[in-house]
Amino acid sequence: MKKVFIILLLLLTSNTASAVSEITLNDVKKPQSAILFIVDGFGSSYYYPELLPLALDGSEIPKARTQNLSFGARVINIKTPTPVTGIAHSVIVTGDSKANEEIVGYPDATIFDVTRNHGFVNIAVMEKGDFKNMREEQDIIIFAANNSLDKPLMSIQSKSPPTGIYDLMYEWKMKAPSYMNKSGVDKYSAYNKWGIDTANAVVEFMIKNHPDQRFLLTVNIGAIDAGGHNLGAEDYVQLIEDLDRDFYPLYTTASDNDIALFFTADHGMSFATKDAHRGGHSGDKYVSRQESLRIPLAMLSPNAASGVISGEYRQEDLAPTLLSVLDLPDNLQYADGKAINVKNYASIFVKADSKYTVSLWDNGRKLSENSDSELIFAGLPLNASYTLKAKGSGSTFEAQFSLDSDKQFNFKNANSGLNTRSIAAIIMILVVIIGGIFVIRRIRD
Ligand SMILES: [Zn+2]
Repeated sequence: MKKVFIILLLLLTSNTASAVSEITLNDVKKPQSAILFIVDGFGSSYYYPELLPLALDGSEIPKARTQNLSFGARVINIKTPTPVTGIAHSVIVTGDSKANEEIVGYPDATIFDVTRNHGFVNIAVMEKGDFKNMREEQDIIIFAANNSLDKPLMSIQSKSPPTGIYDLMYEWKMKAPSYMNKSGVDKYSAYNKWGIDTANAVVEFMIKNHPDQRFLLTVNIGAIDAGGHNLGAEDYVQLIEDLDRDFYPLYTTASDNDIALFFTADHGMSFATKDAHRGGHSGDKYVSRQESLRIPLAMLSPNAASGVISGEYRQEDLAPTLLSVLDLPDNLQYADGKAINVKNYASIFVKADSKYTVSLWDNGRKLSENSDSELIFAGLPLNASYTLKAKGSGSTFEAQFSLDSDKQFNFKNANSGLNTRSIAAIIMILVVIIGGIFVIRRIRD
């Protein structure tokens, strides 16, 4: 019986084992990890130099003066399909314009599934947007369990955190009330600052204590949104200027340590008049306003070009872009977004039978040859022509192409889903189960 189990184990593990070979072909700089920073309810209309925020009555709202929120590659025209917190967060992490909170829980639906499959840990610090399926995608998350700025209650949910992160988050959970002994706009800013400082502490801890562990840190700060709803237009703009000041240390940490930084929002905010004391984004009169739909997107990464990106983009483009910058394949099952070309090289992602020899050629010159179930050829100059070959017993694949962006190939046999090895494993499992039932019956009798 023991022997059967060992054979079974061997068959199953060798069958499901999926290894990734990453080959970086040129001396390119790549990000080790990434921060996805979501400012809840932050409309780009209120600070982008190209845009002008208007109230519902047509009056112009004075913009925030900022200097730290327009870094790297900045996309001018990008909008959320649905300016509602849970839905927009779902769009951000799935790349699916029709996503909702339920889809986030499906297998291979999110950026977190792809990062996890490629050895990253997923960490989150979220004041809003942290619904159940979002939390469950994380190895560890600290999140606001209530919406109170007076008595904030932070909670930690943890599955398999890197050593020390739980204790660090606990320390920051206990610090939250001390941030809040302020009033008015300052209290709202302090709530944001707690989120930023906690995120920064997590990143610095990872760099110091787990330098080889790649991570994706998702951050949401909630008080720009709360301020827009509860305080009105004037204070909303003040909160953006405070964010500009408080965000800078996290930006510095990312930029000093080759960590990719994606700065965005779930949705924007609209006001009835320029001195309105309440705002909104999802109610009937606000939902289709540009001020509710336009979101910022600024990206900083050692492999991304800097500058302003014109053209029309959508919130669902963010997930594929983030994966591209991290040189990860766009395996998002429901995504309809397309990667924005910000990377200064291209990468090729190949899925193949691990028995195949996969080689990459440039004008008759072999650049690389490898065998694995997943291969990533990174660092290829753009706009050059390549040939990709995969050879196995009896099968040969060949593809010629010019690279203007990342490309994916699947050289797996269509009928390899259930090969003889899988069938043998299934028969073995049945034998063991039936045998087990038989043994149990005999013991009972
Ligand atoms: Zn929101």
